[in-house]
Amino acid sequence: IKIKITNIDIPVAFASAFEGEIIRRGDMQVEFDGSRVDCAELVQSAEATEIEDHKITVIGPEADEMELGSKNSIAYVVKVAGKNMQSDFEPVIERKFHNYINCIEGVYHTGQRDMQRIRISKDAFHAGFRLKHIGEVLYASVKNEFDAVVDKCEVVIYTDPAECKRIRHEVAVPTFNKRDDRLKSLTDESVDVYYSCILCQAFSPSHVCVVTPERLGLCGAVSWLDAKATNELDPNGPCQVITKEKCIDERIGEYEDVNEAVRKFSQGALEEVSLYSIMEKPMTSCGCFECICGIEPFSNGVVITNREYAGMTPLGMTFPELASMTGGGVQTPGFMGHGKHFIGSKKFMKAEGGIERIVWMPKELKEFVAERLNQTAKELYGIDNFTDMVGDETIATDPEELVAFLTEKGHPALGLDPMM
Ligand code: SF4
Ligand code: ZN
Repeated sequence: IKIKITNIDIPVAFASAFEGEIIRRGDMQVEFDGSRVDCAELVQSAEATEIEDHKITVIGPEADEMELGSKNSIAYVVKVAGKNMQSDFEPVIERKFHNYINCIEGVYHTGQRDMQRIRISKDAFHAGFRLKHIGEVLYASVKNEFDAVVDKCEVVIYTDPAECKRIRHEVAVPTFNKRDDRLKSLTDESVDVYYSCILCQAFSPSHVCVVTPERLGLCGAVSWLDAKATNELDPNGPCQVITKEKCIDERIGEYEDVNEAVRKFSQGALEEVSLYSIMEKPMTSCGCFECICGIEPFSNGVVITNREYAGMTPLGMTFPELASMTGGGVQTPGFMGHGKHFIGSKKFMKAEGGIERIVWMPKELKEFVAERLNQTAKELYGIDNFTDMVGDETIATDPEELVAFLTEKGHPALGLDPMM
C-alpha cells in the first residue's frame, strides 16, 4: 500500500507559492554554490536491501556549524529502489529537485547536476530549518510524485568538503557523462519515435516541443531519453509518443505524423512544423529557451545568443529583445529558440546548410559548445577549429565589423546562398 505524505516535517512552510522567492545576500544565512565549490545533486537507483526507507544522514557540518554568510559545499545523493525503477528515470527525478527545494519557504535553488546554487535565509534558519530538512523535502516529494517507481528512498547529504569533492568527481560527474554518452550514440534516424512535450503550455498555450535524439527541448532540460522516461512514468503526462513513419520532406525534416501530433497538442493552433529548418515551418518557441538563433543578412549566416549574455548582438538586439519577438508559441521564420546542446548537433538548421551558418555567439557560449561544435564541423565539412572563425562580442557587435572578421577568416557562410 502506498501512502501519500501530506505533511512534510519541517519548521517552515512548503508550497508552490514560495517558488519564485529570491533571497538577497543580506537576508541569507548560508549559501552553496556549485560554480565555486564542489556541489552535486544525484539520484541513484539501488537494490531495496541497500536502502533504509526515510533514513536521512548529514555527513559534515550542519547549517548551524557554518559561518553566517559563508559559501559551502553540498552534495546530496537520493537513493531510490523499486521493482519498476529504471536508471533512465534518475535524471527525470533529479530535475524535479529544483521545484521541490524552491517550494521551501526561505530556501532558493537554481541550476542542476554539479552546478546547483542554494541559499537559506536567516528567517528560515532562525525558525529551525537545517540541511537535514532538505533531505525530508526530497524524501517526501520523491515518494509522493514517483510512487509508481520508487518504493524506498534514502537521502545522504554531504557537506564535508573532501566528501563533496569525492561525490562530485568520482560519483556524480561520471554518471552525468555516462548519460550524455548514451544520448550521443543515438540519432534521429536510429529511433522509431519522437516525443512531444507540452510542459510549457501553462505559459505558452499553443507551444509544442518535438523532442528528437538530435534536437533536445529548447529549454535544454528535456532530452529524448528524458522525454521517453517521462512518458513511461506518466503515460498521460506532458510527453507523448510521436511516430515518424510518413516523411513528407526529408530535407526540412517534415513528417505527416509529426504534423498531426502538433495539430492535436496545440489544439489546432499549429498546422505544420519542420524539425530541421529555421525558415520553413520552424518549430515554435515558448519562453524558456536557453538560446535564440536569428538570421544575419549581411553574412548569409545566423547569430546565436544565450540568456546569460546581457550584451548587444550584431543583429542590433539583446537577448530579451530577441526573446520578445521569438517566444509565445507562434512560428517566427528566421528566428528560433533552442537548447545549448543543439548547437553542436548535425541537425541544427540542416535544411539551410547546418552549423556552417553560425557566424557569431557570445564568447562564453562559444567556449561552452566548442568541443562538440568543432567536432561536428570537422565531420560535416572537414573544417578544423571552426569556432575560431565564429565572431563574438570581443571581436565585433557591429555587422560590418563582423563581416570583415568573417572575410579575413574565410568563414564558409559568406559563400552560401542567402537565406531569404
Ligand atoms: Fe518541454 Fe522544455 Fe519544450 Fe517546455 S521547453 S515544452 S519543458 S521540452
Ligand atoms: Zn518553455
